[in-house]
Amino acid sequence: MKVPFNDLYGQYLTIKDEIDGVLEAVIKESAYIKGPFVDRFEREYAAWNGVDHFVGCANGTDALEMALVALGIGGEDEVIVPANTWISTAEAVTTAGAKVVFVDHHPRRYTMDVAQVEAKITPRTRAIIAVHLYGLPAELDDLQALAQRHGLHLIEDCAQAHGARYRGRMVGTFGAAGTFSFFPGKNLGAYGDAGGIACRDAALAQRLRQLGNHGRTGKFDHALEGRNSRLDGLQAGVLTAKLPHLLDWTARRQELARAYTERLKHLSAIQLPECPPHASHVYHLYVVQVERRDWVREQLEARGVQTGTQYPIALPFLKAYERLGYRPEDFPVSYAAMSRLLSLPIFPEMTESQVDYVCACLEELL
Ligand SMILES: *Cc1c(COP(=O)(O)O)cnc(C)c1O
Repeated sequence: MKVPFNDLYGQYLTIKDEIDGVLEAVIKESAYIKGPFVDRFEREYAAWNGVDHFVGCANGTDALEMALVALGIGGEDEVIVPANTWISTAEAVTTAGAKVVFVDHHPRRYTMDVAQVEAKITPRTRAIIAVHLYGLPAELDDLQALAQRHGLHLIEDCAQAHGARYRGRMVGTFGAAGTFSFFPGKNLGAYGDAGGIACRDAALAQRLRQLGNHGRTGKFDHALEGRNSRLDGLQAGVLTAKLPHLLDWTARRQELARAYTERLKHLSAIQLPECPPHASHVYHLYVVQVERRDWVREQLEARGVQTGTQYPIALPFLKAYERLGYRPEDFPVSYAAMSRLLSLPIFPEMTESQVDYVCACLEELL
């Protein structure tokens, strides 16, 4: 049996008519940049996520950087980010001109260790970026309280967590800004790069719109120097066509995750992901930990099962951050996880028998 890590073409086939129809409509109107398809997606995603404003942009990395810039962060400011995340979270801090400060994560939930966040706050700290890693919300109550107490901005990186809830409330509604990626493989994915920012404050939304569109106030009027980071019409059309399916796709991910957990919980050699009762996990990834991870991956690959490692090198240990001079003992949880993390295949079109097969392979190997 073959089990791919994801099946974007298989998903396309389930919604082919809707996708083909919307692409044709965008082309017919030549509505490639801005225009009605982008407006519609921004409106519908804001309503879906329960936020007042949603500003589309070119990708999730720009969303983070623009949120920081629009909040006035740069210069000597420090921004606290998790050590274990995709590089964009930290990269955006540097490109905004500020300084990255890493913290370790909870050993079974993989979200930021809040006690460590507090320990890293200095007079220069201006913001915390909470990443809802793998689809599980970070500890938002504690982070919000901490941000408030120290006068910091809380930014939510929701790139892996569309529709996840914390105490019943959607992610992206807690911080000053919630940033999203619609990279093709994300839970809501475009057919190319796309992203956006959710926020409550109308003035912030206005600033974000200007920033992403050359600081424009009119066709040839520019209030400031911004950049070109816009959601394009074709991507917005694809996302609008997919959005009505997102709840079902998420429920399916959660069903598959439950099946994995049921089938694997008796294996002591595998550490399963933990979801606290007050949060809902949307399982962008189903990440476990095993000894001899690379060998297990090879063996699974040989049996037709594709897996991933998110992430094989925690950010402080990348060459890109060599200048900060971190050692393994500075982030012991992230460091220990690097050689053990294993992402099992999970995508809405996956079948029960594929889950069974992956679990049977793991039972044989562990
Ligand atoms: C994917 C991702 C991003 C960046 O999104 P792009 O659209 O690829 O720029 C940022 N943060 C996290 C946690 C991500 O997984």
